[in-house]
Amino acid sequence: MADVVLAGIRKTFGTTEVLKGVDLAIGDGEFVVFVGPSGCGKSTLLRVIAGLEDADVGEVSIKGRVVNALGPSDRGIAMVFQSYALYPHMSVRQNMAFGLTLAKTGKAEIDRRVMAAAETLNIVDYLDRKPKALSGGQRQRVAIGRAIVREPDVFLFDEPLSNLDAALRVRMRYEFANLHGRLKTTMIYVTHDQVEAMTLADRIVVLNGGVIEQVGAPMELYEHPRTRFVAEFIGSPK
Ligand code: ADP
Ligand code: MG
Repeated sequence: MADVVLAGIRKTFGTTEVLKGVDLAIGDGEFVVFVGPSGCGKSTLLRVIAGLEDADVGEVSIKGRVVNALGPSDRGIAMVFQSYALYPHMSVRQNMAFGLTLAKTGKAEIDRRVMAAAETLNIVDYLDRKPKALSGGQRQRVAIGRAIVREPDVFLFDEPLSNLDAALRVRMRYEFANLHGRLKTTMIYVTHDQVEAMTLADRIVVLNGGVIEQVGAPMELYEHPRTRFVAEFIGSPK
């Protein structure tokens, strides 16, 4: 079953058409990576799926339900941003629990979910620390933890590693792969890093100028790029 379906998505800011008709069906449990150059509309497309932007035209469905009229918190999604600002005055535990507290989830259930996520992410020992006492990678894990505790149907990640140094980016890449292997939840991941896309994706979606140039498994795009743009984007070393 398709988990996320985009049908004819268009979005214009001012006089600039940023998304020019995007059609895509993402399968249950798939890890899909959106790649493309800066400004091609990756974040806008993710924000449309999340409900942080409204599409001008087109339909977004999640789990078989059209969600255009629903706000972000009613879509069964959780999103992790590039700047994963944690609340500095709160502990890791409080940061992770905060969204659930707002949603009036019971305390025992919050504790259970926070502990399960902390175990998944290997941050149990840091639960009582403040963000400033954590490394960049640990902070990123807390941001992911905040998303995991919501038990979403779909995770949305917008360049979650771009603020980390190169060595840590490589390590975190494997952690994302492990996370997906364990949770098996549908993940939509945006990056402009071809290596990240090739490593993580079940399927890569190449965006260029607000349209999808090609969709396929990493090796399929690598071996059979349909356009020069895809060939240069997927094949070129970073
Ligand atoms: P990407 O994430 O691929 O770098 P974005 O989706 O952020 O690209 O942006 C695509 C284009 O839309 C850019 O030209 C950007 O300036 C423009 N844009 C994005 N958000 C807004 C906005 N809220 N208002 C006006 N223009 C925007
Ligand atoms: Mg972006």
